[in-house]
Amino acid sequence: MTSSTEQSAVTVLGLGPMGRALAGAFLDAGLRTTVWNRTPGKDRELVERGAVGARSPETAVAASRLTVVCVVNYDAADAIVRRGAVTDALKGRTVVNLTADVPDRARSTATWAAEHGIEYLDGAIMTPTTTIGTPAATFLYSGPEELYRRHRPVLDALGGTHTHLGEEIGRAAAYDVALLDIFWTAMAGYAHALAVARAEGITARELAPFARGIGTILPPIFEQEAEEVDSGRFSGEGNPITSAVSSMAHIVHISEAHGIDAGVMRAAEGLARRAIGRGHGADGFLRITEILNPR
Ligand code: NDP
Repeated sequence: MTSSTEQSAVTVLGLGPMGRALAGAFLDAGLRTTVWNRTPGKDRELVERGAVGARSPETAVAASRLTVVCVVNYDAADAIVRRGAVTDALKGRTVVNLTADVPDRARSTATWAAEHGIEYLDGAIMTPTTTIGTPAATFLYSGPEELYRRHRPVLDALGGTHTHLGEEIGRAAAYDVALLDIFWTAMAGYAHALAVARAEGITARELAPFARGIGTILPPIFEQEAEEVDSGRFSGEGNPITSAVSSMAHIVHISEAHGIDAGVMRAAEGLARRAIGRGHGADGFLRITEILNPR
């Protein structure tokens, strides 16, 4: 296969909402796109748009030098690619796994890939399906840099920003779990806030514009406090934990007065109280990172 063919063909395994978005972006970019999904029928719209619908994962991976895998987790990815015929067909080709999972799964997949002569790059998608193919998409990768550079022209078809985080294969997944930690605890906080607001007669629609305001406070805090967290010095000048814990206690109180589970806020409040108990009441809230994981 010539280099230009290498850069004009791609296979996508997994056609859930994200896999379909990825395959759609490859098609829009004019790449010869071969697709396969465990449950048949999910390729219909893509095939109508010009994709090749493969009958089996082994024929799908044989069609391109590059295979992008995007399924629910690594158990599912393994169930597809770690089977004799598929593994054999992948020999000498590249897998970019955009499936989300924990770093150790990426590491064990890299070992498996090396044992079978398969080139392997791990990746993570940090934005929703609607961003794929647009400037708003964000992709993270880790693994051999040369491999990343070689396949970047095809991956660019997915739009947005692509960042190679280093050669250590688990790094993209490690960023992914840390970033999803922010997302899901924030979503749990939002769900809890909506429940408390409803108990006070405030609709989600009424709260939303002000919730957006809270959202915009966070990005500068993430940036400003990064150095404090990395250095282990936590200035609580603007908002010491003693003050923060007082407002957390109000939230716990009103929640439980309405019969609403305050577990999400109690977890945060408990960590803050432990920091105060250890004599760090004058520090900022992120001092709790030292309780969660002492350096
Ligand atoms: P899902 O996470 O629900 O994954 C669905 C896909 O996984 C389908 O192709 C499904 O096949 C396949 N699958 C599940 N179990 C198995 C199995 N045992 N064997 C083979 N295939 C299996 O939906 P998404 O497509 O949205 O997500 C794919 C990945 O992308 C996930 O890791 C997700 O975390 C990540 N992601 C998704 C985002 C989103 O907005 N959707 C955003 C960022 C990342 P079948 O149709 O046969 O069930």
